[in-house]
Amino acid sequence: MKKTSTVAKRPPGYVSAQPKFLVSVAADHRLRICLVYFVAMLLSIGLTNAQPTMPKNFLLGRYDPARDTSFCKVDHIYTERAVYLKKKVYTAYKRMYAAALKDGIKLNIISGTRTFNDQCYKWGSKWTADQFAHLTDKAARSEQLLRWWSMPGTSRHHWGSEMDLVNLKLAFFKTAEGKRVYNWLVTNAPNFGFQQPFNAGRTTGYQEEKWHWSYVPLAKIYLAEYVKQISYRDINGFSGCEAAQKLDVINNRVLAVNGACR
Ligand SMILES: [Zn+2]
Repeated sequence: MKKTSTVAKRPPGYVSAQPKFLVSVAADHRLRICLVYFVAMLLSIGLTNAQPTMPKNFLLGRYDPARDTSFCKVDHIYTERAVYLKKKVYTAYKRMYAAALKDGIKLNIISGTRTFNDQCYKWGSKWTADQFAHLTDKAARSEQLLRWWSMPGTSRHHWGSEMDLVNLKLAFFKTAEGKRVYNWLVTNAPNFGFQQPFNAGRTTGYQEEKWHWSYVPLAKIYLAEYVKQISYRDINGFSGCEAAQKLDVINNRVLAVNGACR
């Protein structure tokens, strides 16, 4: 018996619907699409695993400015203490210092960057102070302290963009010399990027601080990142931290600043 082929015979003059070169073009196209998907997948994995541009620990002051290359130690011409500032802030401050000196105003830095631990020490010493001992309710005691002192993890001093200048007492700024210094700063500091975050006239937040000046080109970025990244779960590790949420310190303290600083 004659064996019949299972392959259908092509009629004479048959031309393939997909010439060979078209088949190879299609394969090439599919390969390209696969490659594009592969690269996109790698990128998305990379982006998912990428660290945020500003670490939470920086915003919370949980780092060491002495080991951070974006900081520098302030020269003793400008301060009698061990002060660290962001390099950009220091550059701007030196220009402001020189301009003030020309006008007969001698500025000096009393405090610059403060870490979480620095703030813990300060907050802790006030927490146990006799003057607040009668406040047994933690929220009530925190509220009293918050008139002047920031909870650790919520201070602008954590960011390297802040400094306290000349004198830490409002009484000084009522003297002729204090008025001269303050008026000079109000008029000139904005020209160098500095603003007073805790100014008069705010309805919430810390008391007025005529000595505290903030380098806003950086501080505005840090404040925006703080609001984006930090929640009450991140504010912990000190006496009274339980009250942070109840007193809404992020809205009522961190964000309660001069509009020029937001
Ligand atoms: Zn300050």
